[in-house]
Amino acid sequence: MKNLRNVIDQFPRVKLAYLPTPLEEMKQLSNYLRGPRLWIKRDDLTGLVFGGNKVRKLEFVMADALEKGANTIVAGGMIQSNHAFATLAAARKLGMKAVLLFRERKPQEYRGNLLLDHIFGADIRFFKADWRTMADINKKIIKTLIAEGYVPYYVPSSSPLGSIGYVNAMLELVEQADSLGIEINYIVHAAGSGGTQAGLVVGNKILKRSVKVIGVSVEPDSKWLHTNTLQIANGCIKLLKRNSIIRSQDIIIINDYVERGYKALTSQTATTIKVVAEKEGILLDPIYTGKAMKGLIDLVKSRYFKKQDNIVFVHTGGTPAIFAYGTILQK
Ligand SMILES: *Cc1c(COP(=O)(O)O)cnc(C)c1O
Repeated sequence: MKNLRNVIDQFPRVKLAYLPTPLEEMKQLSNYLRGPRLWIKRDDLTGLVFGGNKVRKLEFVMADALEKGANTIVAGGMIQSNHAFATLAAARKLGMKAVLLFRERKPQEYRGNLLLDHIFGADIRFFKADWRTMADINKKIIKTLIAEGYVPYYVPSSSPLGSIGYVNAMLELVEQADSLGIEINYIVHAAGSGGTQAGLVVGNKILKRSVKVIGVSVEPDSKWLHTNTLQIANGCIKLLKRNSIIRSQDIIIINDYVERGYKALTSQTATTIKVVAEKEGILLDPIYTGKAMKGLIDLVKSRYFKKQDNIVFVHTGGTPAIFAYGTILQK
């Protein structure tokens, strides 16, 4: 463990997150489900502003941006993107400008993350485009920024470098589990672009543990997600100068909770959010963690786990989006 810590510490890093995040037992929820012991890794409390998994990744990615002399960050996604907002907040903290490119129309009212983007003074631009066209738009805007004299740096939501943040999270988890005297059998978390899962799987491999990491996909194209996760994981292992390889079967992705797509919040997820709020005093989000928790609860109910297993749910954050889904959650 010390060895891995040393390797991670060699990477340039800016301090953005409050670490380690707590590992807590979800006693009420475990009792309610009469299943295995459920734990929660509170990465919704990584800080910066509203926390979440992106903050861990940004510690490494923003350090790289600074090293390259960047003064303008470019990021994007959908308008409720946690990635875009976290990147913007990190940019502000480091004295940089941020351009956010969304592939959705400008809504009349700004809510949730988009409202935060406005408050934090991002240069926000809206496009009606699919992700393929968006990639071209990104390139064009970066070129324009350079021509205007800025030094832009594009931050993807997942990358091998960012995943080191989740290798570190695995290290934290293993240390916490060891000091609690428990063995973690499974980790369950929401997966969108693969960086979180990649880092956890790499950490597990390097630390020679046998934790099964289950990503609950919110991405309709689960084949793409699997390939991307595998690629990022092996890219990350290379950065860490390890010889081992992550194989296809090391990446476990469940694809039954995409629902009606990324932005959809169904009544089942709304119910899950309410159950966890009432049982544990913990707030999940509508796009990622609500769906992943629904997945975890279904796995418990279908007796996927053994009663003596310890399951850790990684709360990857995303809570500002709650405030963009009031009408559905109010029901
Ligand atoms: C981005 C995000 C995820 C997905 O993480 P990936 O590393 O992209 O798979 C999960 N939960 C929340 C809240 C997120 O914002």
